[in-house]
Amino acid sequence: MALDEFGLIRRYFQRVPSAGTDTGAGAGVPVRLGIGDDAALLDLPPGESLAVTTDTLVAGRHFPLTATAFDIGWKALAVNLSDLAAMGSRPQGVTLALTLPEADPDWLAGLSAGFFTLADAEGVPLIGGDTTRGPLSLTVTALGSVPPALALRRDGARPGDLICVSGTLGDAGLGLALALDAVPAGVANAVTGLSAAARDHALARLHRPSPRLALGLALRGIATAAMDVSDGLLQDLGHLLAASAGTGGPLGARLQLEHLPLSSALTALAGSGDAGREQMLAWALAVGDDYELLFTLPPAAEKRLPALADALALPLACIGRVTEAPGLDLRWHGQVLDVALPGGYRHFS
Ligand SMILES: [Mg+2]
Repeated sequence: MALDEFGLIRRYFQRVPSAGTDTGAGAGVPVRLGIGDDAALLDLPPGESLAVTTDTLVAGRHFPLTATAFDIGWKALAVNLSDLAAMGSRPQGVTLALTLPEADPDWLAGLSAGFFTLADAEGVPLIGGDTTRGPLSLTVTALGSVPPALALRRDGARPGDLICVSGTLGDAGLGLALALDAVPAGVANAVTGLSAAARDHALARLHRPSPRLALGLALRGIATAAMDVSDGLLQDLGHLLAASAGTGGPLGARLQLEHLPLSSALTALAGSGDAGREQMLAWALAVGDDYELLFTLPPAAEKRLPALADALALPLACIGRVTEAPGLDLRWHGQVLDVALPGGYRHFS
């Protein structure tokens, strides 16, 4: 490597105040000691628990080899902040462990720019890290804080609760098909007919997801359960229902799929016949990477959603209910959905 490990860190990643400074993270919680010592020191607000999550992104597996350095840096951080959002926790700091085959200064500058563009937007300091030589991968560990009684968990959903999601679903699935040049033949014409703006939107949703941190904080004390949509709505909903089952036996859900929040790019596909509708639903239901929040609400809380959506400038949609009957009952305008979706979702219960 042209630069040694320490040179790399300093040049591209050591840009936060290193000691005794309130970096502006979260609610003004100081990073007592940041990058540069053997470990960082964080002060948590009294009475709050530390929320910790970590995710590794491997080149070719978690992002296409064609992804830009900027997008890789952004996404490595975004997926971790999304997990903090799903817990209703406030991010306080992140660490980055970087494995690189070589030290390409332009590539590292791009990675750093993507990472810090999101970190700065969310006020999250980088408080430590590591670099090693090897196949490209990034591991981010995100640290947040939340009063334990207010943490959003997966295990609190109850029969009758509303099932809600933020933003729109399926755009990342379309984006991945575009990025891999793997648009299914049945919708190839419809996708080709999309505007450049619609295609760019889908690719941006794949490469630069928005962690829903403000929503996670706003759902404290309101949502009965929450998680982020990383593996596809149906699979993730299955995880939430399984966690919430408790001693009362398995839970299920009835979804009214016409209420799925979809971007104009996705709904444009529905106009291209049955194949288009099925692909639209497959991307929205069975492909991950949207990083929206999936959450459940007691029925009485539904009336609070419009004001919350307005305040956050983020669409919030209720798409169904938790049921005592196990399994997923999927309806499209009242009709039982009869399409094959990948993922074996019917087998989770
Ligand atoms: Mg998650």
